[in-house]
Amino acid sequence: YHRMAAVKLSKDIVRSFVDSFDTVLFDCDGVLWAGSKILHRSVETVNYLKETGKQIFYVTNNSTKTRSQYLEKLTKLGFNAEENEIATSGYLVASYLQSINFKQTAYLIGSKGFAEELTNHGIQHTQIGPDVMPTEMQFYVNGKIELENDVGAVVIGFDEHLSYPKILKAANYLANPNCLFLASNADETFPMEIPLVVPGTGVMVKAVETASLRTAKVFGKPSAAMFEAISKQCKIDPKRTLMIGDRCNTDISFGKNCQLTTLLVLTGVTSLKQLEQYKNNEQHILIPDFYTESIGDLLDLLEQ
Ligand code: PLP
Ligand code: CA
Repeated sequence: YHRMAAVKLSKDIVRSFVDSFDTVLFDCDGVLWAGSKILHRSVETVNYLKETGKQIFYVTNNSTKTRSQYLEKLTKLGFNAEENEIATSGYLVASYLQSINFKQTAYLIGSKGFAEELTNHGIQHTQIGPDVMPTEMQFYVNGKIELENDVGAVVIGFDEHLSYPKILKAANYLANPNCLFLASNADETFPMEIPLVVPGTGVMVKAVETASLRTAKVFGKPSAAMFEAISKQCKIDPKRTLMIGDRCNTDISFGKNCQLTTLLVLTGVTSLKQLEQYKNNEQHILIPDFYTESIGDLLDLLEQ
C-alpha cells in the first residue's frame, strides 16, 4: 500500500498493513474500552495480534491506577496481558524518580493509585486527599505555610481534590530551583460516555505552572518518555511499530514524535470532523497515517 496521510483501513490493505508491524502499542480508554464499556471486538483483536506473534504494549496516560491494578482490569476483561506490557504515566514518573535515586519526599497532587505506585518504587510522598486553607487567607498574612522539610519534587497527576492550598504549596516548593517538577500527563479533558466536559490533569499542571512560572516535565503521551521506557525493556524498531489511539493530540502526536506508524480509531475523543479540520489546517503532527471506525475493524477486515 502507499502510505498517505489518514488512509481509511480497508480489506485490500489490511493484511499487508498488519504484516508490516512487529510491535503494537494500544492506548486504553477510547480504544479498548470507553469508560466501563468494552469496545467492539477489542479483546479478540489484541489477543489475536499477540497470539500471531506481535509484541504488545498498553500505553495509558491514566495515573489513577497502578500498573498491577491495570493488569487486574485487563485480565478481568479477558485480555491476555502481562504486567511488563503495561506502561502508565504514573508508573513512568515513579520509575524515573527511582532511576535517579531520588531519596527526598515528593509533594504529590494526585490520586490513591499514583501514591501507591510511588510507594511501590520506594518513593516517599506527602498525603493525598483534601487540603483546606487553615483560616481565610490567614496563612500568608502570618507567613504560616505548613511546608514539609525534605520536599525535592512536586509531582502532579489527576487529583479530584485539587485546591488552592495545594497549588500554593506546590508553587512554594517550586520556588526552590532544585525542586523537580514532574507531571503524569497533560490531557485537557477526559472522555465520557455521555456529553460532559471533565477537566483533566492538564488543568492541574497548568495551574501550578502558572503560579510557579515553571514548566513541568510531562511523562505521558505525546512525550516520547513512554516509548523510551518500553524500549529499555526490549528492542523495538519504530519503523515496524504501530500506535493505535483515539486522541490525536496525545496518541497520534506521540506516535509521530517516536517515528511510529499511527492508526486513529473513532471510538474516543477525536472525531472524523475534527480530523478534517486538522487536515484543512495542515496540522501534520495530528494527522494519523491511517484511521478506522473501531479497533475491532482490524479483525473484521482480516476475516472478509
Ligand atoms: N487520566 C485519567 C484520570 C483518566 O480517567 C483517563 C481516561 O479514562 C485518562 C487519563 C486517559 O487514558 P488513556 O491514555 O488510556 O486514554
Ligand atoms: Ca485514549
